Amino acid sequence: MRAIRVYPHEITSGNVNQILERLHNLGVTDILYEAKNVDGKVFYSSKLAEVIDDRLSLICESAKEYKMRVSVWFCTFPEGYRGRLLGSGISRFLRKNPDCAAVDDEGYSTLEHPVPCDYGLENYACPANPKVQDYELGLIKEIVKGYPVNGIHLDFIRYPIPGDYCYCDYCTTHFKNTFGISIKDEEASRYLLKWRQQTITDFVNKVYGELKSVDNNLLLSALVWKYDDCLKFTQDWKQWNMDFISPMFHHKGLFKRPIWVRNEIHKNRTMSNKRMVASIGGLYSDLFTKKEWDLCEKYAIEGGAEGILYEHYGLLEVVSTLENSRMSDIKKIMRWNLFLIDHSIRVRISKLRRSS
Ligand SMILES: [Zn+2]
Repeated sequence: MRAIRVYPHEITSGNVNQILERLHNLGVTDILYEAKNVDGKVFYSSKLAEVIDDRLSLICESAKEYKMRVSVWFCTFPEGYRGRLLGSGISRFLRKNPDCAAVDDEGYSTLEHPVPCDYGLENYACPANPKVQDYELGLIKEIVKGYPVNGIHLDFIRYPIPGDYCYCDYCTTHFKNTFGISIKDEEASRYLLKWRQQTITDFVNKVYGELKSVDNNLLLSALVWKYDDCLKFTQDWKQWNMDFISPMFHHKGLFKRPIWVRNEIHKNRTMSNKRMVASIGGLYSDLFTKKEWDLCEKYAIEGGAEGILYEHYGLLEVVSTLENSRMSDIKKIMRWNLFLIDHSIRVRISKLRRSS
């Protein structure tokens, strides 16, 4: 599998065929189209959520021609965003149901104190609240019943990070009923992480059951943290019913070399026999050369993944890189080296400031 993330605004009626043709020529087999954005707005015909417009129809129609599969990238629990990426404001669902917002250990809801995230701030719904779960599941059912999609790819399938969540009224009451002590009790910390992991596991497995009851061929997948990080972020994905999993092996953001991808995937494969499509890219993926993307794909397969997911912040940048221009690779290597010099100077200055 060679899958690629496509953000909603990157597809229009004017460019959809041209973009899919380019992806097809690059050997991309699967489009993961983000039809529910991080701000909770949607890009398909929904009766439940605020609709920007129905671009999912466009992409499904065009993908048929190029025999590519389309799954929906679904930003699960964020229901509001403000920042440099696409999206603006709080979803109608969260505005109408402020009690559904996740609440931190100091009692602030994500409506009052939004959570820092990629290039902005997000308003996050409580993953445990049944009203939230019913709503998100309702959207997923609308999509798979209304469109000829191949599956659903869950993103943000966890509690908010960073921070300690959730202490909303629902979680407070439910915790007390389950464990017989207050969620604020010192002893509660013994149960909290496992309880949160189980909440996410139960929801994922419910989504899986719903998908298979609609059509057994529908695939459920998710973007997750790799196994040595996932538990602290409430993602015990070894327990999830899932057709494949996409842990993030984003080497460049961690200042690792591409070979790290192979070693990490291999480690994750020995921990779980789940089918794996490795997420490659992430932070600084705009500075990946074609050679780097190709090398990561080779290492991902060698490590035991069944394919890769191109994870990025701009489709056209990745596509033009993959279409290859030696000049573009040389420019990117220069930009990356300049970035590294700048980065190491900043690190040294901040160390000097701390020591003085
Ligand atoms: Zn809660």
